Amino acid sequence: MGNLSENFNHKDFICRCPECRGAYRIHLGLVGILEEIAIHFKKRPRIISGFYCEAYLEKLKREKKSYHAMGKAANIVIDGVTAAEVFKFAETLEGVNGLGYYPEENMVHVDTRPPEKKEIWVREKGKYLPLNQEKRHQYGL
Ligand SMILES: [Zn+2]
Repeated sequence: MGNLSENFNHKDFICRCPECRGAYRIHLGLVGILEEIAIHFKKRPRIISGFYCEAYLEKLKREKKSYHAMGKAANIVIDGVTAAEVFKFAETLEGVNGLGYYPEENMVHVDTRPPEKKEIWVREKGKYLPLNQEKRHQYGL
């Protein structure tokens, strides 16, 4: 049992950069969603990245607002489960309003941004593209 929920500990969400030595912010709605995913697949998602501190954001040179910096986003991998399966299930969950499919890393981004800011994308060779019907067909999503 983690210190946040059944499967998660605050350490799972810490910033991975060398500058801040483990700063973190966690939106509990996000933890609830990750628990729903864990229950569905009967397996705990591994959090590849959770919170991004300011120094790390600066380094990434993100122009767009990052929900990672608000503790509302996580990039996850479930060992033995394809990112497509994780993506398709995450898409059915209420509260998941940012969803990214990263086929090259077998990884999915989930975030709890407000519904009016809803966005679904795919990352290909470092580029973020809207997940349109053609892309859904290509990836079987
Ligand atoms: Zn940091």
